[in-house]
Amino acid sequence: MTAAIIDGKAVAADLRLKLADEVSEFTRTTNVQPHLAAILVGEDPASAVYVRNKQKACDKSGIRSTLHRLPDVITEDGLLVLIHQLNNDPSVHGILVQLPLPAHIREQVVLDAVTPLKDVDCFHPENVGLMVQGRPRFLPCTPHGVQQLLLTSGIQVAGSYAVVLGRSEIVGKPMAMMLVQRGAAADATVTVCHSRTKNLADITRQADIIVAAIGKPRFVTADMIKPGAVVIDVGINRVEDKLVGDVDYGPVSEVASAITPVPGGVGPMTIAMLLQNTLTAARLSVGREVHG
Ligand code: NDP
Repeated sequence: MTAAIIDGKAVAADLRLKLADEVSEFTRTTNVQPHLAAILVGEDPASAVYVRNKQKACDKSGIRSTLHRLPDVITEDGLLVLIHQLNNDPSVHGILVQLPLPAHIREQVVLDAVTPLKDVDCFHPENVGLMVQGRPRFLPCTPHGVQQLLLTSGIQVAGSYAVVLGRSEIVGKPMAMMLVQRGAAADATVTVCHSRTKNLADITRQADIIVAAIGKPRFVTADMIKPGAVVIDVGINRVEDKLVGDVDYGPVSEVASAITPVPGGVGPMTIAMLLQNTLTAARLSVGREVHG
């Protein structure tokens, strides 16, 4: 079997076109331009690239983006002052704090300080709680991107056995929570695996859908996959100047029925979902909320 390639780049481009129309309509009817404020602390080159890509995507979709660059010697209080300013600025609808932050700044304290109505990454406990209860305000960008890929690829998720590798707050945990909800690209039976999981391959070999988000290059090998399974690779790892996923792409694509490449799979979807959340936040600001 050779797996169908799930082309996240194409799906994301399509979603972004539709979103640009929605942004334009929203701006025309409200006179409000959705606005994402990004905060970048320090000089980490990878973070700078991520932020730049997000800003470019905003610009192409008609979303205003502003970048607040802070030196890595900024104190936690200094960063919190900026977040409070952005929380109180009515022209700003979404606030993105690019991670990781320098070690002397407590990530949790900073992320909790972003007002839930502008929390477009869906990190705030209020938004996580709403998502877990199945009544989301925002959906976390990467897991939401994965769900959209499953949906647009026509993959049967309801009733399937999904195994999520990784339990981070940003990918693994929300991914599992979203797959187990009632609704589209959901209704799965879900197992979450992590570094303390025993007999991992015995578990993954039963999965109809595997979502790998562990940050270990080519960790998921062909012998860990049930023939015909769907494999979603969230991992982005730099190996000898090349980006590779958490899945051993070549051999696994001989066993799986569908697979996402790295790059060009989940990554572009994450950005598309961030833009969508920014529009949602702008809608919230004018009382035109859409999520049910
Ligand atoms: P984290 O490092 O926060 O979490 C990794 C998770 O994998 C942890 O839960 C860890 O378990 C688990 N893990 C590590 N080793 C193993 C192992 N040997 N067996 C089973 N589980 C293991 O990573 P993130 O969730 O932030 O990111 C994961 C990957 O996804 C990275 O490559 C990252 O770059 C990428 N990523 C991609 C995005 C995209 O847009 N495509 C967005 C965000 C991340 P434990 O909890 O026990 O330590």
